[in-house]
Amino acid sequence: MTRSGGEAWVGGLETMVHRKWATAWLAAFGLALAGCSQPADESAEEATPPAQTFEWTLVTTWPKNLPALGTAPEKLAVLVREMSAGRLSIKVYGDGELVPAFGVFDAVSAGNAEMGHGAAYYWRGKLPVAALFTTVPFGMTAQEMNAWLHYGGGLELWQELYAPFNLVPMAAGNSGVQMAGWFNHEINDVTDMQGLKMRMPGLGGAVIDGLGAAAVTMPGSEIFTSLQTGVIDATEWVGPYNDLAFGLHEAGTYYYYPGWHEPGAMLEAIVNKEAYDSLPPDLRAILVTATRAVNQDTLDEFTARNNAALTTLVREHNVQLRRLPDDVLARLREGSEAVLEGVATDEISRRILDSYRTFHDEVQSYHAISEQAYINARTATGPNAGTTDEAG
Ligand code: CA
Repeated sequence: MTRSGGEAWVGGLETMVHRKWATAWLAAFGLALAGCSQPADESAEEATPPAQTFEWTLVTTWPKNLPALGTAPEKLAVLVREMSAGRLSIKVYGDGELVPAFGVFDAVSAGNAEMGHGAAYYWRGKLPVAALFTTVPFGMTAQEMNAWLHYGGGLELWQELYAPFNLVPMAAGNSGVQMAGWFNHEINDVTDMQGLKMRMPGLGGAVIDGLGAAAVTMPGSEIFTSLQTGVIDATEWVGPYNDLAFGLHEAGTYYYYPGWHEPGAMLEAIVNKEAYDSLPPDLRAILVTATRAVNQDTLDEFTARNNAALTTLVREHNVQLRRLPDDVLARLREGSEAVLEGVATDEISRRILDSYRTFHDEVQSYHAISEQAYINARTATGPNAGTTDEAG
């Protein structure tokens, strides 16, 4: 399934890629389109390099082939193999197949695997500011995160942050706005959060701790059983597409929105620095290009699939869809600012936080009169007969 889907997708990409565009943004990574940058008569005079091949291992924090999260690195492997005519082959391992989910960072850092795919906020125990490269409560959306990364200096800061760990990071997917999570009682005011043992990684977990909840971080593979057996009282995971795949509706009753804690969770690809440097320039360009393509593709998949999954949850599984009350959201927003300030534990963390905040402020100002104004106008003037209204 992955192969045929990936091939169709690769074909679309080939018609899409425009050389001038590709050259311009590859330059941002210090790369060139190898073999394409010389006129044909000059390149013909160059010696043909030996067809060196590379076989890489990629470990992930996701269950094998989980929709979107788990299939993103599989698509990346297909794309890289096709683009490189088999010169760079990547074998993908799911959570626990080679290393446990939360061992991915260390495994790639040590060179036990050439690549990893996961989310930077899983590493905030050792690098608090890393959470900013996944998502920030009440922070930037997927569109805005991609802009900060690729046109606002975010990627360069991320590379600097990971350099001491021998890692090269790249954006490699985005969930878009997530859901606030699954509960077995209604959340009517902030007191309903108190004492709640809830799975919530990243800075959002620190925010609910401040409201008297007890945030727990666990990989996706452990969530369903933990909720069903009462090890946790509530959980967030991603959104309808992934939550339906996990069967979370069988363990939770109330499904809350909006995902204030993850307004656009960016996934990361990490590459061991020596492995990255060992690639010839054309394979490096292929890897970077393919990862950037998968970054967008994953968001497209979530956007396309979430509403159908939500409809299934509500209509076939009688899930109770709820919006978090405004006063609860207000308290969560207040708590988020203090938590965000807490990541500035050293000089580079301060620079990253300042960059994030500055970009967020600026993009939010413009989006107030563009994206936000448009969506408000569309909702006010057009038909809005989505699942949310019917079920909410
Ligand atoms: Ca999540």
